Amino acid sequence: MGSEAGAAGNSLKQSLRGGLGPAERRAGRATPFPSRSLKADMHAHTCYSGWRHLRFIHPRDCYTEPLALYKTSLERGMDLVAITDHDTIEGALRLLDNGKVDASKVIVGEEVECCFPETGQWVHVNVYGLGENDHRLLQGASRDVREVAAYCRERGLLHVLNHPFQSYHGQKPLQAYVEDLLELFTHAEGLNGGVDDLQNLAVQALCAKAASWGKHIVQVGGSDAHVLRRAGRAWTEASASSAPEFLEAVRRGHCKVGGTGNTTPGLMRDVAEVIWNYYARLYTGRGEATGRFAYFVDAAFATLSLCAIAAGLPAWIVLISQLRQKASSLRVLGGLSGLVPSIAKDYNPLS
Ligand SMILES: [Zn+2]
Ligand SMILES: [Zn+2]
Repeated sequence: MGSEAGAAGNSLKQSLRGGLGPAERRAGRATPFPSRSLKADMHAHTCYSGWRHLRFIHPRDCYTEPLALYKTSLERGMDLVAITDHDTIEGALRLLDNGKVDASKVIVGEEVECCFPETGQWVHVNVYGLGENDHRLLQGASRDVREVAAYCRERGLLHVLNHPFQSYHGQKPLQAYVEDLLELFTHAEGLNGGVDDLQNLAVQALCAKAASWGKHIVQVGGSDAHVLRRAGRAWTEASASSAPEFLEAVRRGHCKVGGTGNTTPGLMRDVAEVIWNYYARLYTGRGEATGRFAYFVDAAFATLSLCAIAAGLPAWIVLISQLRQKASSLRVLGGLSGLVPSIAKDYNPLS
């Protein structure tokens, strides 16, 4: 990190030592709700989200234009549109620059991929209401989820732990993992519209377990839409009259979630749609490669892969990973009941 990021690193460490930031200390105070209820799909991607695999062929994780996401979300009853692309805020900023949108309805978000450095396990954290400097510093801190969480606390940014059991496959004992999560986060994605109900159930069980230990975890909902069809299918609702008030209400825990999760066939269809978009763009000259050689590499690999695609390889990969995920969720659900509140006295960030 540069000197600016280094200074931020020091302040992050101070924040870690000092515990919770002023926003969390403020959180939890009872305030009357404003009269109007607003809905926002708190987790949605656009074509600015890259895919972390096979980067040499320039795949995206989503091909939805930000303006299309904005329009569709509003058509489906959302009052606010939160864009949470992978490790970038470019899609949200481009949308704000578009003269056809009502900027007051757009929430700039980012899904930051970060790590538990001791195990290498990745986790995704949605951060909301951030600016370009926040984005830069968060990316610099992303090697350690503790630094990311500390930065958000220090800046008073709403941050939500996404699908916490998607990447958990026993890298550390469940008790230790849960203790880490509860120490770092006050908000978790209780309803992710891109994963199956079992995985959402495991997060809801985690929240119930935490509540039994005296720690309130606020549940947030979002579609995790990677295709337009899913936009606005899961959401968070809070009483507010503007986007900043909405974020503050969610931060205080004055919100509820609604919508549906995904199914294995639904996920297969989503993946097929993203792959179809990749090929369609590549073969019509709208791929991401810059330069003839890069295009040749993309086209050669994509064409050679067509047999595997036609044989249903992506569907098999989704099916196997879903079965693995279901088994993992069941293990978590079974394990949560046996956890003991060994560190309950140390955390109470919402008070
Ligand atoms: Zn994610
Ligand atoms: Zn996502």
